Amino acid sequence: MPYFMCPNCKLRRSVVSGAEALGEEPDHTRPPCFNCECDETFEMNNDYFPADATGFVVVDANDTIKYAGADLEPFYGSAPDTVNGGNLYSTLGLSAEQVIADVREYNQRRIEQELTMRNAEGTELAVWADFFPSPDGSGDILIAITPV
Ligand SMILES: [Zn+2]
Repeated sequence: MPYFMCPNCKLRRSVVSGAEALGEEPDHTRPPCFNCECDETFEMNNDYFPADATGFVVVDANDTIKYAGADLEPFYGSAPDTVNGGNLYSTLGLSAEQVIADVREYNQRRIEQELTMRNAEGTELAVWADFFPSPDGSGDILIAITPV
């Protein structure tokens, strides 16, 4: 069953519209999170259980950061809203060019990628990252980043 993940507080929320059972196009409308102020919940086709330390980032089709979750702060070293609107590569230095190209080309998730990123002080960090393309066809990708 599809559900929506809050990239800020990690709350999972199932939305049953019944559309699919009726053979209709599923509703991809992203509901706001009812646990925090985030209005960028992300549709997931597969179960996913982030680690406590995992920080979520949502990028759009142009690799611009649309939303960064609260759990990015402990290892990034700055408030998540300071990266919103920035480019994924120049802002976080995430070594994900090839992975994201693959996610876009095949429209498939990629999990447990061993990558590096840069924190707010410019220090390189080793991270694990999982990538999920949005089922709504927007080109958005949810990235789950976990420090090693
Ligand atoms: Zn939330």
